[in-house]
Amino acid sequence: MTHDATPLTPTDDVPVRTAGILDRLAELRRADAPTHGGRVLSYVYDPGLAELDELAAAAIRAVQPLNGLDPTTFTSIAVMERELLAFARTVLHGDDDVVGSVTAGGTESCMLAVKTARDALRTRHRRAGTTPPRPRIVLPTTAHAAFRKAAAFCDMDLDLVPVDPATGVPSAADMIARIGDDVALVVVSAPAYPHGAIDPVVEVAAAGAAAGVPVHVDACVGGWVLPFWDAAGGGEVPPFDFRVPGVTSISADVHKYGYVPKGTSVLLVRGRDLHRHQFFAVTDWPGYPVVNATLAGSRSAGPLAAAWAVTQALGVDGYTALTRRCVEATARLREVVDQIDGLRVVGSPTGPLICVAADESVSAERQVDPHVWADETKALGWIIQAQPGLAQSDGTHLPHTTHLTVTPVTASVVDDLGAVLATAADRARGVARPAPHDVLAQLLASLAPGATPEQALALFEQAGSDDAWAIVQGVLGAAGTQPAGTLPARMAPVLSLVEALPPHVSGRLLVEIIARLTEPS
Ligand SMILES: *Cc1c(COP(=O)(O)O)cnc(C)c1O
Repeated sequence: MTHDATPLTPTDDVPVRTAGILDRLAELRRADAPTHGGRVLSYVYDPGLAELDELAAAAIRAVQPLNGLDPTTFTSIAVMERELLAFARTVLHGDDDVVGSVTAGGTESCMLAVKTARDALRTRHRRAGTTPPRPRIVLPTTAHAAFRKAAAFCDMDLDLVPVDPATGVPSAADMIARIGDDVALVVVSAPAYPHGAIDPVVEVAAAGAAAGVPVHVDACVGGWVLPFWDAAGGGEVPPFDFRVPGVTSISADVHKYGYVPKGTSVLLVRGRDLHRHQFFAVTDWPGYPVVNATLAGSRSAGPLAAAWAVTQALGVDGYTALTRRCVEATARLREVVDQIDGLRVVGSPTGPLICVAADESVSAERQVDPHVWADETKALGWIIQAQPGLAQSDGTHLPHTTHLTVTPVTASVVDDLGAVLATAADRARGVARPAPHDVLAQLLASLAPGATPEQALALFEQAGSDDAWAIVQGVLGAAGTQPAGTLPARMAPVLSLVEALPPHVSGRLLVEIIARLTEPS
């Protein structure tokens, strides 16, 4: 592009029809949920600063033709990666023995942490002359789903530790009791996404160190905001970073509270030897030698350049100032929720995530169901995120909740948002969501009349793609919803069904929806 010696010129023999393409894209974009302005309290992390968007866009354009596959050919990539990692390491208090990689996102960081730990376990056992066992990951039920994905992809066992339903936090003793010879990795979160609660990092990391087992802190969502929380007036944060002995790796998504376009996370690893297990190298094929630290081969340098530019522009001072807005908005929103009769904040989250459940200490007529509340909030033009309840292995039950991700822009709309949340609660008060058991019973009766619930579920499990799609359409029809490709107007019945179905069945049905969404058309 701009740096090439010969400018690209249009030719007569290659038809290039640009007319209308960007207009069509603009039209498509108008149907998207708004990414700016604070109306969507999940997915997007809006600093509310237009100049950061401009800077990121310019940085992406500047590196557009590069291939991130090879930092020895495109040396700017190595420089930007080093500087971004150095900033993250400083903020997370890593010493010189902390190294790492820039990845495409939180899921990739988590998957690589797991893969690294699995390979380290194998090496540990081989060196000791013992046969590597089938590797296990110890993690709270609230650990991000990315670790389930990692376990599935790496063929490892998951050992899920129940959390206290009142706080969303696992007991350190329960976590520690699961540590053994076959444990490749213990995962704790700072904070965990569902409840915004920070796990007992210090105790678990100490036990991991004593047993020689790596401990990963998933700070995907917290890693670019908690370091600034105290200085921004949010109060002290329990230690979770490399100052804690025994913490061997940390994931921190720059594309969340780093306020950069999607496509960048960092995975920092304590110890070069541990980090090297993350790599994949092939030298015995007839093509170019492949050495990858991450999952992709060829890749865009755009997200890295944008992340590098924005983090350089903000620095510690900029992040602290933006975090101050998060602190203010979070405190205001907590007050709003605390004042709404029939709702309660779950636990005492540290940081900018708020999880809200029905207040079961008041009578049913006064309670506000969090999913009905989310649907009413959506009808008023604001989007908060419904999360299903969960039965844990110890017999306890995590209530179904609604999640609010507070970002700096929330501070500028907090009065409007507070009023909307209160109005939505008034509309939802006393209205029960469709009970999971009833939704399921109705569905089974309508789709497999005469069959027992067990028989009907067995049918679902064996359903091919077309049958699964027919079931989904039946479900969406029953939920009173709209055309393919748009979310149902009301999510409460859908979430109830997700909660009631066995996970492999609900997973299969959701796969069908997402797969049909992108069939060639
Ligand atoms: C968002 C998140 C992830 C996954 O990150 P993606 O960037 O969405 O892949 C992992 N862990 C936690 C705690 C998160 O909040």
